[in-house]
Amino acid sequence: MPGLVIANWKLHGSLALVAEFGQQWRALPPLSDVEVVVCPPTPYLGAIREAFEGMRLGAQDCADQREGAFTGEVAVQMLGEFGCRYVIIGHSERRSLYGETDAQVARKARLASAEGLHPVVCVGESLEQREAGQEVKVVSEQLLGSLAQVPCERLVIAYEPIWAIGTGRTATPEQAEAMHGVIRRCMQEHFGAVGAAIPIIYGGSVKPENASELFGCENIDGALVGGASLEAKSFWQIASAASAGRA
Ligand code: PEP
Repeated sequence: MPGLVIANWKLHGSLALVAEFGQQWRALPPLSDVEVVVCPPTPYLGAIREAFEGMRLGAQDCADQREGAFTGEVAVQMLGEFGCRYVIIGHSERRSLYGETDAQVARKARLASAEGLHPVVCVGESLEQREAGQEVKVVSEQLLGSLAQVPCERLVIAYEPIWAIGTGRTATPEQAEAMHGVIRRCMQEHFGAVGAAIPIIYGGSVKPENASELFGCENIDGALVGGASLEAKSFWQIASAASAGRA
């Protein structure tokens, strides 16, 4: 299975950044054994499709409905029309800032999967939960709630400890690998043997300096990258480390 590295641009970017990033990316050597995905803010999907070579497109969220009176929402089939193959669902920022529940996450993941997209379902514990020794319980419960009736085909899980997102504080490879192992077992119990093949990627302050160590872990299949994905060279270095980890 090739590595999977996904850029989450969050609410950053501009047409100027798209043009500059695209130009720099095209000047870097092509990568093999790694699927590289960029999830920009929705208005830039069209421009990125034209400007970025060798990258898949993804979205940062989707509606939990297909159509109707839902002002401001974007449906999975619309993302598909713009060439998206992936959609991040249940990012901790959506859960904490917009009150998204596990049930909504599961609805979105079912819609995305039915549309032929890869739902990238995010889970992760807070610092307080980790300090209280509850991280395994929290992540396992989040997984079961967020995957209710979600098929395992095309599914991707992103483990993102909240305390490591945008803080510069990365989980150690040991901490990340331990939780990825828990998630792998959980997926096997939930889906049977096929669950073992679901890609599990890590997110939380991944940078060129720590990527190789993380990708050296048995159960880490790639990364969801925020801050370091806004700079073409850094993101390429991370994707390149994922590719080397697979060679
Ligand atoms: C994220 O937004 O999913 C993320 C992991 O961000 P950062 O890499 O900046 O911690």
